[in-house]
Amino acid sequence: MPNDQMTPGVSANRLPTEVLKQNFSDLHPAFNNHEAAVAADRCYFCYDAPCTVACPTTIDIPLFIRQIQTGTADAAARTIFDQNILGGMCARVCPTETLCEQVCVRETAEGKPVEIGRLQRFATDSLMAADIHPYQRAAETGKTVAIVGAGPAGLACAHRLAMKGHSVTIYDPRPVAGGLNEFGIAAYKTVDGFAAAEVDWLLQIGGIDLKCGQALGDDLTLEQLQSEYDAVFLGMGLAGVNALRTPGEDKDNVGDAVEFIAELRQASDLTKLEIGRQVVVIGGGMTAVDAAVQSKLLGADNVTMVYRRGRERMGASGFEIDLTTSKGVRIIYHAMPVEIKGNGAASELVFEYTTETGGKLIGTGETFSIQADQVFKAIGQNLRDTPVELEVSNGKITVTGNGKTSVANVWAGGDCASGGDDLTVTAVAEGRDAAEEIHIVLST
Ligand SMILES: Cc1cc2nc3c(=O)[nH]c(=O)nc-3n(C[C@H](O)[C@H](O)[C@H](O)COP(=O)(O)OP(=O)(O)OC[C@H]3O[C@@H](n4cnc5c(N)ncnc54)[C@H](O)[C@@H]3O)c2cc1C
Ligand code: SF4
Repeated sequence: MPNDQMTPGVSANRLPTEVLKQNFSDLHPAFNNHEAAVAADRCYFCYDAPCTVACPTTIDIPLFIRQIQTGTADAAARTIFDQNILGGMCARVCPTETLCEQVCVRETAEGKPVEIGRLQRFATDSLMAADIHPYQRAAETGKTVAIVGAGPAGLACAHRLAMKGHSVTIYDPRPVAGGLNEFGIAAYKTVDGFAAAEVDWLLQIGGIDLKCGQALGDDLTLEQLQSEYDAVFLGMGLAGVNALRTPGEDKDNVGDAVEFIAELRQASDLTKLEIGRQVVVIGGGMTAVDAAVQSKLLGADNVTMVYRRGRERMGASGFEIDLTTSKGVRIIYHAMPVEIKGNGAASELVFEYTTETGGKLIGTGETFSIQADQVFKAIGQNLRDTPVELEVSNGKITVTGNGKTSVANVWAGGDCASGGDDLTVTAVAEGRDAAEEIHIVLST
């Protein structure tokens, strides 16, 4: 007899294949031509468009929407890619509700923004589906750049440098490129292997040598890269995960949410993926939301997310939080874990309610328990393998201007660098801007 949502413990095969397929289908399906035309018609083509100002990559949004409206989606795609070479992924994963669409004048006036994200997807998909790479590489400059990390920051940096004629080598310990686009983003935001297809498309520029299975710290040193290349860009993200430091954290079935999500993203058959009947996710950011929602979609019976502060302090956007509860996840605010109980494996979590006094979070002394056969920790990631030569502040590589680090000819961007906001689109912007500066330095 197959398993179902009520099967005790941690089990595979809780839902039939067709239900899983439906559960993990595209969150925001692509527009057809008619839908895109109707959505584009709602744009006022504002002068000094607030949507463009709010976009971390400063895409000329009214221009690309006008190009869609006039039936030239390929030109629209080019407008987007000029600023954001991962515009296809960003169209799928950007929290537009807190960026361009939040400030769209139709949102402020009517509470319904122009659907900029979906229009961006319409444009970028049309060019990528035709397998057209709209850029050509400049003549070889003879200069070489090493890039550490093949995530959005590293890929954006690599593409811009390659376009300008430099020879780029990307190093990444994972077997495939993409970073969190491939291993982190929720499966229902990037379906049908889009992340991998986007990397293949991006590499069509040429001049980029991708070396997987090689990590800074294990296989390479910064000194080595500095001596072999004219410049180095670090885009290695935050590869470490924060510990709970709660008794019982080492029990079976207590794991890191990012590892669970990576496993899910790489699974070829979701029926084979094990999930608990009672899942508890600890945290309040995007990782916590994605772990909780995807646990539910895999067939967990009860999923509870527990966050130590209030909803207004959660890292996940209002849209993401609403998505979480709409899928049947329960969110408990103002509580922190004090113990994970269980005989070998986790079976129960004890939490203490919290309160804030003078900005400090403290326990109230009142506790409660939740049954759990699987626990995911999602309380943040941290820098790993940082070369000692680099200055680090607040857990990130210190950068100034367009990603300059404290070490000569070494730049950094994306999640590993100070100052960003841990979004895909910001990583792309920082990789691109660092490439522009590296190009200027290498050209003088
Ligand atoms: C679960 C989850 C869901 C998310 N969802 C969203 C979302 O919906 N929308 C959004 O905008 N953002 C989202 N984010 C954030 C977004 O994914 C990141 O901000 C973005 O990927 C950062 O890009 P990056 O290139 O800096 O780092 P990463 O994407 O982390 O890429 C870093 C790369 O460096 C490699 N690397 C690590 N260590 C080394 C080393 N020592 N040597 C060489 N290479 C190394 C890694 O293997 C990886 O390929 C999410 C993050 C997580 C964890
Ligand atoms: S703010 Fe809204 S209406 Fe104005 S240009 Fe941007 S998308 Fe169009």
